[in-house]
Amino acid sequence: MVETQVLIVGAGPVGLTLALDLGQRGVRCVLIERNEASIQLPKMERCNARTMEIYRRLGIAEKIRDAGLPRGAPMDVFLATSMADPALAHLPCSSVAEAKNEIAAHNDGRPLEPYQLISQYTLEPLLRSFVEGLPNVTVLFGCELESFIQESDSVIAHVRTSKGADATIRTAYLIGCDGGSSTVRKQLGIQLVGEGNIRKLRQALFHCPDLYERIPMGKGRHYHIAEGPVFPFIILQDSTRHWTLHATASSDAEMAEIFRRSLGMPVEFDMLSVNEWTQHLLCAERYGEGRVFIAGDAAHLVIPTGGLGMNTGVGDAVDLSWKLAATLAGWGGPQLLASYEKERRPIGLRNVKASRAAMSGRLSWRAAHHPDIRKDTPEGAAIRAEMARRFDVEQRKVTEILGIEAGYRYVGSPIAWHEPGEGPDPDNPEYVPTTWPGARLPHVWLDRSVTPDNAATTYNPATTHNRTALHDHLGTGYSLLRLGGTRVDTAILEKALSATGAPLEVLDIRDEAAREIYGFDLVLVRPDLHIVWRGSQVPHDAQAIAAVATGQIAATDSAANRKASG
Ligand SMILES: Cc1cc2nc3c(=O)[nH]c(=O)nc-3n(C[C@H](O)[C@H](O)[C@H](O)COP(=O)(O)OP(=O)(O)OC[C@H]3O[C@@H](n4cnc5c(N)ncnc54)[C@H](O)[C@@H]3O)c2cc1C
Repeated sequence: MVETQVLIVGAGPVGLTLALDLGQRGVRCVLIERNEASIQLPKMERCNARTMEIYRRLGIAEKIRDAGLPRGAPMDVFLATSMADPALAHLPCSSVAEAKNEIAAHNDGRPLEPYQLISQYTLEPLLRSFVEGLPNVTVLFGCELESFIQESDSVIAHVRTSKGADATIRTAYLIGCDGGSSTVRKQLGIQLVGEGNIRKLRQALFHCPDLYERIPMGKGRHYHIAEGPVFPFIILQDSTRHWTLHATASSDAEMAEIFRRSLGMPVEFDMLSVNEWTQHLLCAERYGEGRVFIAGDAAHLVIPTGGLGMNTGVGDAVDLSWKLAATLAGWGGPQLLASYEKERRPIGLRNVKASRAAMSGRLSWRAAHHPDIRKDTPEGAAIRAEMARRFDVEQRKVTEILGIEAGYRYVGSPIAWHEPGEGPDPDNPEYVPTTWPGARLPHVWLDRSVTPDNAATTYNPATTHNRTALHDHLGTGYSLLRLGGTRVDTAILEKALSATGAPLEVLDIRDEAAREIYGFDLVLVRPDLHIVWRGSQVPHDAQAIAAVATGQIAATDSAANRKASG
């Protein structure tokens, strides 16, 4: 029997990210995937800002950018009556190079990394190559989970290889990253709640090498064709020579015809594949049971409008990963793994809601369509103007949601200190930096030196414009940030945290920008860069903070809890 610490089922982007994070934390894992090879069909194509920050911490962001859409390529979104016609509406979106320059030019707490367009069929094999380089992770393709049994101290999983051999794997924890039809979720008897089977679409992949250079309205990533009721939607893939088309069509062959019509000019192409996919807005009623958890599409299914599918799953993976590692290392208390569902399910529900809003925005501008839209008449012009006006407002619900992508906060988490009051709106589509406990630590550029108590653990420092990103100085354990030259003695808190056995670094950050953005002299950050506690004095009950941070006890709104806030 194979024995491991964590068995991950499914080598989609979420299972691969989880394996990478766990593997880098030194956890022994087995990753099984029922298919013989990584995905061949196109699905997602945009890693959002938060996912790219996560990949930066894993040391792979620039490798992903090297494999993805060239850094200088515009990410604009267009509405037009065909690819050959002038744009009716145009939403300019920065290229990665432009966005990086903007990030470098500002120190206002905005996310450290911009998005990256990379096709799922490029991303998955790349992530797989990183995971396969980790000595403590075993990757088995052509190996399907059939069933599992939970025991008091382990899970016994029965798997079958594509050659028909049966095997058993004993694992301390089992994580189902096995997609929308998750075997793990079904075996746990967990239902999906929300709206299923909303509509079926066809997606076709085209090789059309000349198109990118020939689009009169300009280069971009998304082209919406104003042709109802089909509404062809053409998406640039990372090579710039491949394109996908999403549309309602009655047959696969019709997809080639719709693509030809949408081009509106003679351009050669080959249709490489067609597949059907179904839109859902669903979230699992629970995220696990006992030693078994679910993550990614196994736990939530969104309409990809807004790109909150894989990106939400990557957030699940890094929330779960350090909690598993801490529990296996012995210092993680019982609240750590219990907090996974309490933190991530509300984000799953919130992102389903944001995806619904993005989709209804799209439906709203589509409703302005009229068959006379192409006519060279005042009526035709009025239809085009109205659709463009609505597009300019409604399509932003898809492209301008940085707050949803990077501003999520674990409201009411048992492992984040509860402060009195409501805190900033956790559903704000606009990103507003905050250090309210449960939020992700905002990015800050540092001009002046950082003094970690153990310089050897400094994390992947990268300089930009002679400055370093604070995120890059934070290690894989907890970080206590001492800001603005504070002279407060934090020894009691440090001692309380160290007594739990949890890894802790203390960083003195004299930089004024950090103190200004963070608003407090002291900030305690956990391994996934979410904030546990903040204050400006040494807390009276440092042990309670340490116990909440490491999941020994659950945070409450008790008076003692509030008293400890500095
Ligand atoms: C058209 C389209 C466009 C999209 N665009 C975006 C986008 O731009 N941004 C975004 O964030 N998301 C997007 N998504 C969603 C994104 O593709 C999914 O959210 C993502 O693939 C989920 O990753 P996952 O790893 O959770 O699951 P999956 O990618 O579904 O991977 C699950 C894996 O588990 C394997 N598996 C299943 N059962 C078993 C078993 N019993 N044993 C072993 N292995 C098993 C499967 O073979 C599969 O490889 C899009 C989706 C579609 C359809």
